Amino acid sequence: MSISEWFKREDRSSIKSKDKRAVPEGIWSQCASCKSTIFQNELFATDFVCPNCSHHYQLSALQRIDLLIDKDTFNETAKDVSSKDPLKFEATKKYKESIDKAKRSTGLKEAIITGKGSLYGRPVAIGIMDFRFIGGSMGSVVGEKIVRLINMAIDESLPVVIVTASGGARMQEGIFSLMQMAKTTAAIDRLQKENLPYVCILTNPTTGGVMASFATLADIIIAEPKALIGFTGPKVIEQTIKQKVPKEFQSSEKMLEHGQIDMVVERKNLKSTIGQVLDFLSPAEVVYEKIRS
Ligand SMILES: [Zn+2]
Repeated sequence: MSISEWFKREDRSSIKSKDKRAVPEGIWSQCASCKSTIFQNELFATDFVCPNCSHHYQLSALQRIDLLIDKDTFNETAKDVSSKDPLKFEATKKYKESIDKAKRSTGLKEAIITGKGSLYGRPVAIGIMDFRFIGGSMGSVVGEKIVRLINMAIDESLPVVIVTASGGARMQEGIFSLMQMAKTTAAIDRLQKENLPYVCILTNPTTGGVMASFATLADIIIAEPKALIGFTGPKVIEQTIKQKVPKEFQSSEKMLEHGQIDMVVERKNLKSTIGQVLDFLSPAEVVYEKIRS
């Protein structure tokens, strides 16, 4: 192995497996933020947070399930829903080709996995987006799966937890993708009328139509540190308003400062914080039952 390969930067797309023994190629990687050299096993031990600068790497949906859901309790729902190409869209490449490529490279059928699992023994309806699948974009299937998740939560009186990682609406589906903003918003409205808790965790990045719909409608909105959160990217804003925008103005920390989100929580504390928030938001008898069992 050549010396350059030893120090090869970790390819994030190579992190596909939830099996932590499946170490990606290379023993060392360079942190994308502080540029320090990190031993791969250190990254596994910290759930992909840089031990030097706390940079939070993106995680796949499967890694997130490992992180948040009690072992062997996750049951996937709506797993056979997959995208069609209603507009027969074609730009630099055909939409259908993009879907096929994303399916092959991620092993997923869409940009979100939904299901039911336990979080410290409490059953939750959980949806987790995966940025590797066409930038975590929301098309008809993502919208439909979120609505089905919420319907399940209402039918079974479960709290809802959604983890977002998305560039926004999936433009290849045109108006169909934009309609998902209204569709998911209406579903969350029904959930809230049932007084069922909804917690959303915004991860890097959460932007566009996802940020402008279900991601920011939760009872409690949590974000991972230094995640990019916003509607439009800074370059487009600068071109529109003809002014420079402040550095990091779309970070989790700035969003917290301005009241857009409720908490910034490090990955190592994420599961325990969600558990506490759900205890806080749940009726007393549910918490009492949990303590008794
Ligand atoms: Zn670092």
